[in-house]
Amino acid sequence: MNYEQNFNQFYIKRDDLLPFSFGGNKVRIAEEYFNDMENKGYDCIISYGSSKSNLNRVIANMSKAKNIPCFVISPEEMDKDKEEQTFNSIIVESTGVNIVKCSKKNIANTIEKTISACCEEGLNPYYINGDKYGNGNKVTPVNAYIKAYEEILAYERISGIHFDYIFHASGTGMTQAGLICGKIINNDMKEIIGISIARNSDLGRLPIRESVESYFNNTILNNVDSQISFTDKYNCGGYGRYNNQIIEMIEQIFNYDGISLDLTYTGKAFWGMTQYIVEENIMNSKILFIHTGGTPLFFDDLSTKKLKESI
Ligand SMILES: *Cc1c(COP(=O)(O)O)cnc(C)c1O
Repeated sequence: MNYEQNFNQFYIKRDDLLPFSFGGNKVRIAEEYFNDMENKGYDCIISYGSSKSNLNRVIANMSKAKNIPCFVISPEEMDKDKEEQTFNSIIVESTGVNIVKCSKKNIANTIEKTISACCEEGLNPYYINGDKYGNGNKVTPVNAYIKAYEEILAYERISGIHFDYIFHASGTGMTQAGLICGKIINNDMKEIIGISIARNSDLGRLPIRESVESYFNNTILNNVDSQISFTDKYNCGGYGRYNNQIIEMIEQIFNYDGISLDLTYTGKAFWGMTQYIVEENIMNSKILFIHTGGTPLFFDDLSTKKLKESI
């Protein structure tokens, strides 16, 4: 037996290098929201979530670049025990977009009020998550990673390299739902493994299934579930939790390859991938890791000394 044939070969799709606002999957996703907004004739965008999030960094930046008024509805509890700023929150605040704080109980109400306030000023606002309960716009972000999947297929055709696996950090499931739809649409065979960075498996699979089903208008597939590989085995107990092996992995990848990963998303997922490959005995395979971005978090991790001195 040729020993070398047992080696896996690793590739990284560098979505962290997408050329806008430090890149990442949220650039693709934000583009889908802005396109949808403009196609439907809206002229103002309302986003949701922490000003520390990668999504709100990109949305704030894009709204400035396009000169579109932007409101970010931020539930306060999210940031409660972590009052300190991060590079994302500094960027979001520096753009001057309107950050509307609210309590977690008051989200729907705050969204409604913000929409009315915009209307009173003669604006026609677009809320990225659909209605005030966050339903009705699940399909828009799915398009982002259908397109990315098709880029991967195009790369395979040009290079002659065929991937057996795709690994990536999975959070809300928008990215993974897009990849799964891309695979179904193109009748492809790759195994897509989402490494949960936060949620447990049951909770995390749910929005992925909903998004895939709503993309296909519930017309296909009783077997959507069987298409979803989402593992919580490497989530270290939840969002933002990490271990020493993740720290070491980030140091190694930075020092050998000059590629930055962070403790919350990509470093955790990269480490999870290496564990998964050993545990599942994956060999002789071509493995694609999608670097989903989050570069400002690497600098947070560095400056708060969560990474060791060896970087
Ligand atoms: C948001 C995010 C993810 C998770 O993407 P989802 O579509 O929410 O699953 C992964 N990596 C980075 C860097 C992110 O910002």
